[in-house]
Amino acid sequence: MKNLNELFEHQLKDLYSAEKQLIEALPKMKSNANDSKLKEAFGSHLEETKGQKKRLEEICKELDIDPNGEKCKAMEGLIKEAEGFIDEAEDDDVMDAGLIAEAQRVEHYEISGYGTAVRYAKELGHDDIAEKLQETLDEEYDADQVLDDLAEGRLNKEAKS
Ligand code: FE
Ligand code: FE
Ligand code: FE
Ligand code: ZN
Repeated sequence: MKNLNELFEHQLKDLYSAEKQLIEALPKMKSNANDSKLKEAFGSHLEETKGQKKRLEEICKELDIDPNGEKCKAMEGLIKEAEGFIDEAEDDDVMDAGLIAEAQRVEHYEISGYGTAVRYAKELGHDDIAEKLQETLDEEYDADQVLDDLAEGRLNKEAKS
């Protein structure tokens, strides 16, 4: 990589890999959630995530690059951690609280990735692409907020007993 443009392309591919891995992982998180609102949150973010993958495909098409070819090792690790947790949780409320914790790590990782990508797109003069990436960034913030609200609302308290 020798310039911001190449770094930007690398970031897009990394995000693309991350979203693809999440599309595989979110159904397992949803099926292990016990609270109906948490299940719903995972389900709707899964649909959103499919749209985010599509956005990245559109962006890469516009830039004439292949979105494939990069593996996001951080997302791979976050998902492995979530799967490990699922195997260890022995109580329904603890499962839900822990799923939220794992999912928020994922959202925060995405927020930082998309935040960087939006900034690079702007610096490179791709205003339309920056807008598209910002749409996804907003969705990631919203997903994180929904999880915050669920955790604060009651799921953590229920996991205490
Ligand atoms: Fe995403
Ligand atoms: Fe990554
Ligand atoms: Fe997300
Ligand atoms: Zn947060």
